[in-house]
Amino acid sequence: MKFIKKFDQYISAIFIITIIVIIATSYFTFKEFFASNNQRQQEVIMPLFSLITSEIVRPLTVSQYMASDPFLIDYIQQDKIEKAVIFNYISSVASRFNTLAFIAIEKHKLLIDSNDKNTDLSWQNAEWFYRLKAIDKNSFTDFGDAENPHLFFDVKMVNEQGEFLGFVGLGIDLDYFSKQFTTFKKDFGFELYFVDENNNITLSSSQLMKTSSHHRQEELVKIDELDWYQHYQQQHQPNHEQDGIFSSASNELIVSQMHLKEINWRVFIIAPPANKQQAYWLLFIPKLVIFLMVSLALYYIFILCVSNLKSNLVKDSETDYLTQLPNRGYIHWKYSQLSQQHDHVSIVIADIDNFKAVNDTYGHLFGDDVLKVIAKKLHENLRSIDLTGRWGGEEFILVLPDTTAEQAQEIVDRIRTNIANIPFSPASTSKKFNVTVSFGISESSLADVPLQDILAKADQALYCAKANGRNQVVIHLE
Ligand code: GH3
Ligand code: MG
Ligand code: MG
Repeated sequence: MKFIKKFDQYISAIFIITIIVIIATSYFTFKEFFASNNQRQQEVIMPLFSLITSEIVRPLTVSQYMASDPFLIDYIQQDKIEKAVIFNYISSVASRFNTLAFIAIEKHKLLIDSNDKNTDLSWQNAEWFYRLKAIDKNSFTDFGDAENPHLFFDVKMVNEQGEFLGFVGLGIDLDYFSKQFTTFKKDFGFELYFVDENNNITLSSSQLMKTSSHHRQEELVKIDELDWYQHYQQQHQPNHEQDGIFSSASNELIVSQMHLKEINWRVFIIAPPANKQQAYWLLFIPKLVIFLMVSLALYYIFILCVSNLKSNLVKDSETDYLTQLPNRGYIHWKYSQLSQQHDHVSIVIADIDNFKAVNDTYGHLFGDDVLKVIAKKLHENLRSIDLTGRWGGEEFILVLPDTTAEQAQEIVDRIRTNIANIPFSPASTSKKFNVTVSFGISESSLADVPLQDILAKADQALYCAKANGRNQVVIHLE
């Protein structure tokens, strides 16, 4: 039992060491995971940059190209124009670039768009036209169409003499753009800010979703007012025309800046740290689940092996190797339990007669075989509550709960006869011989009676059996 306690301590120590090793290993694994994820994040920002370039920069370039197209400049200066010709021109551009295209012609006071909507250029219909015309600049960005918000690039058209002819341009569907951006926001928690040369936020990811009108002048927010920008400004003092990715010192946010030189805007992509992003958790959680499942499986296998080993060890420590009967230690332990279920017991001590002579005549090995056969016979035909053990040498013990000495004598006498009738035939000789056993019985109450006391009396009875000529059963009489 002392050994078993120590064994448990060893097992606990091994287990704790295993857990520490697993935690240490997983720490390094996950550290690597965090690092590789930060790199992944930078890879994700790149496609977002190209989305911005293709959706915003390209329409602007196309608008500038249309404004300088000699065919268009000539045609809109004619006294008579056909709307269909103009419409064909702008609708082919619109469909090629998947945007809205328009032209506003001063001479004919006419606005045509690629949806075939013709509007006359009155102050009420086209306030923007007169507002932008008055400004000494060639191209503009402006928001319009409240129901279906668009970011318009308006480029002034002028003839060779420098006379103002109107505006031409494309409109980017902001709903379409925000849809493209949604996955970046959902998976990575990105925020997007477009900032003009005066540091006004022209467009932001929250505004992208709800651009209510182009009368936004009163609502303008300066980027300098935002906390993250102030930190970014202090730490990096970025050049406005610089592109790059900057992580803040505290690693709270990752700020990427991109300069759109065509309109002199800056785009900021604000990304939370990796562990705040949904995509990160989608990657991380399966890994964690696999890790836990493997740990649990290993733990289960470990416990199974240990308990199997333990029960084998326990069994070994309680069993006599030669006869496979319970040993003295086990009998003592079992006896201490008996008093809880039974009130009296008969103890039988059995000793093989003249066994020394068997060993001397046929050899020690054959003596062992005899011991095994007799051990088997001793516990055959007993009840499951009865117990047979090897007490030592060629002595055995039978523990028969709730059995009187007389009942025990009857049972044991049958066993004695059976054993006496076994013919042993050693290989060294053709002669067969028999072995007998003497028995001493003592009956006792189980209330506070030590095993030694009952055994001493059974031993006395055994002594009598030997003295009386062996091969017999004697009950100890008080
Ligand atoms: P008695 O009838 O008085 O009991 O005579 P005995 O010869 O049986 O008694 P003794 O105590 O003189 O001898 C017991 C012998 O049992 C001595 C020993 O060699 C033998 N013995 C004890 N354990 C084993 C064992 O594991 N294997 C073998 N082969 N012999 C054993
Ligand atoms: Mg003996
Ligand atoms: Mg003997």
